[in-house]
Amino acid sequence: MSKVKVAINGYGTIGKRVADAVALQDDMEIIGISKTRPNFEAKTAAMKGYNIYAPADKIDSFKNDGYTIAGSIEDMVKAADIVVDCTPGKIGVSNKALYEKEGVKAIWQGGESKDIAPISFNSEANYADAIGADYVRVVSCNTTGLCRVIYPLDQKYGVEKVRVTIVRRGGDPGDIKSGPIDALVLDPIKLPSHHGPDVKTIMPHINITSAAIKAPTSFMHLHVLNIQLKTECSAEDVKNLFASRPRIRMIADGISATAQIIEFGRDLGRPRNDMWENCVFRDSVSVDDGELYFFQAIHQESDVIPENVDAIRAMMSLEKDNLKSIEKTNKSMGIGFKC
Ligand code: NAD
Repeated sequence: MSKVKVAINGYGTIGKRVADAVALQDDMEIIGISKTRPNFEAKTAAMKGYNIYAPADKIDSFKNDGYTIAGSIEDMVKAADIVVDCTPGKIGVSNKALYEKEGVKAIWQGGESKDIAPISFNSEANYADAIGADYVRVVSCNTTGLCRVIYPLDQKYGVEKVRVTIVRRGGDPGDIKSGPIDALVLDPIKLPSHHGPDVKTIMPHINITSAAIKAPTSFMHLHVLNIQLKTECSAEDVKNLFASRPRIRMIADGISATAQIIEFGRDLGRPRNDMWENCVFRDSVSVDDGELYFFQAIHQESDVIPENVDAIRAMMSLEKDNLKSIEKTNKSMGIGFKC
């Protein structure tokens, strides 16, 4: 069977990771990535052997810098079965007309409005909705992290209400423009933050309230969760449930900070120290007066990457069973080692 042809439009933090993850699969291949400027990311894309496409009016400047350019972004879209749009939030929507014109399926990321596609996606919670779909939005890093814990809890115990406070990273490690440098910024001041409503795009029946604060850190987000369940369970039950899920890692061994998780990722030899799984602090999981509490850390640059691979598989009808797709993606990327 021929491999599904995948194009990556926007080769930044998310795009370069999706490209590398797709390249590991045996049922899909990268036919090209787009760059708007000949910078260091374009250089590494060329070194990895990806075909580079550029806006038509920028091709000459790439060529002047010694790049071989495969064509324009329009040429790339024409050559693809599916485009993963990883352009910055609110830019991806301007590419929709091109994908529609060329009759190519497309995935957008969480920075786009939920209205960009009829389906917002999470591999565990609603894979089936995306089977054969033309347009899908893979929800943001925080929403992905929330769905991964809320979905199994709801399946097993029923969720009465979720309250979450999110301490957000101010910017990604390579981002030289974002902040804050020395402040905790209410993000936004008016509650709730967009994260709770975003979870509802996948699980509309979940009663959830969220608040978010931007902090001067770049490694990870931290979630403080408080969940009222419909049936009784112990902290041990929840730890066992989380440990059984394919994209949750129980964090222990003296780790009590996001910086240590990233160091752990480095020690594990993860590419770019990526932690694709939710990192639930095992000792934080507690049940008090019928309510569940825990901390989890979310590696914003990488947790949505396996979800993009699964979304491609669902939309291209390569696999009907979400657990089989998750297992295939996990195995290829090296997700799954439990501690
Ligand atoms: P980024 O800025 O790191 O990368 C975007 C890339 O797209 C850059 O290389 C930029 O040059 C390129 N680009 C800009 N305009 C373009 C255009 N018109 N055509 C083609 N390429 C263009 O952004 P990112 O952090 O990778 O975010 C991409 C999407 O993923 C956003 O929707 C964002 O909200 C979402 N997301 C980001 C994170 C994160 O933590 N970085 C996590 C989850 C989801």
